[in-house]
Amino acid sequence: MNKTIRAFGIFSGGLDSLLSARILMDQGIEPTLVAFTSPFFPPDQARAGAAQLGLPLTEVDMYPELLALIKNPPHGLGRNLNPCIDCHALMFQKAGQLLDESGQPGFLFSGEVQGQRPMSQNPNALKTVAKQSGRRELILRPLSAKIMSLTEAEEKGWVDREKLLNLSGRGRRPQMDLAAHYGLKVPPPAGGCLLTDVGYAKRFKWLLRQAPAGSPSGWPPARLAEMLKRGRLFTPNAPAATPQPQGQASPEPVQWLIVGRNQADNQALTALLRDGDTIFHLEGAPGPTVVAPNLGSPIETATLNLGRDLAVAYGDHASAPEARVRIDAIGGPSTEHKTTASKPADWEKFMVKFD
Ligand code: SF4
Repeated sequence: MNKTIRAFGIFSGGLDSLLSARILMDQGIEPTLVAFTSPFFPPDQARAGAAQLGLPLTEVDMYPELLALIKNPPHGLGRNLNPCIDCHALMFQKAGQLLDESGQPGFLFSGEVQGQRPMSQNPNALKTVAKQSGRRELILRPLSAKIMSLTEAEEKGWVDREKLLNLSGRGRRPQMDLAAHYGLKVPPPAGGCLLTDVGYAKRFKWLLRQAPAGSPSGWPPARLAEMLKRGRLFTPNAPAATPQPQGQASPEPVQWLIVGRNQADNQALTALLRDGDTIFHLEGAPGPTVVAPNLGSPIETATLNLGRDLAVAYGDHASAPEARVRIDAIGGPSTEHKTTASKPADWEKFMVKFD
């Protein structure tokens, strides 16, 4: 292996990124695999892919910068909330920083295939990504290299262009054949990036509109973006209020609650709790995890009452007219309350709907 030349690869663990790294390994390069993380795309598949190649994985959180791009994407958004061109450029930028920090000569690579995604991988988009990253001459795309311009790594003889590929378009057959040739397991289709998911994108846009006045540019914190994946949303504060333009603070502080839909949601919400959050438990019977996250203002009576109603409404209590709900202020006191079971009409109207 050539350990003098460093090759930092944007690595999702998907088949194309696996193959791009494997092709370089064939040429005596030991790639450094970099998985970018955020609440929108977990690193699980990248971890499995790195393990399959027998290589370590470097994980880099890109949420703060990605959030700024979602709010203000220089090259626009895709179909939902995905700023793909700027996002890819940012990944290359950050991979380039890692290369600089290594102090060694080298290049960057990815598993992108020209034409595979009509919007973000057409020839112009790929050129824009490379230019925008500020590392154009360093970026090698091993799967499509032969139909793209020469890069520094090829010019300097670090990699042999003749052994790179000329793939283009949406077909997957050549990749499947190559995986079989290398004895690689084809990863299952991953969940993908939530910014491309219409349902999650609507929720996240809603969250952006709830920015408390005076909140920093880095709002919302990653854990609120994580919470949004995990349940039904409710707010006692006029859910049908006129939306504010994206990124602008709402005129009133809006408090909200999230109700886990199943055990996995409940566990994930519990793991995300921090001081100042409030959690509601139905006592004496199984029930959902109901959380009112700390949004910087004291929790209001209306929010507390709604949280109690929801803990009972979604709980598995007997048909008794009353139940007990414990309210834990994380980092503070716990209190217990008798709560009258309310009619769906009393709380359903507070559900935030995203149709
Ligand atoms: S799909 Fe998501 S992770 Fe991929 S480039 Fe687009 S915004 Fe970034």
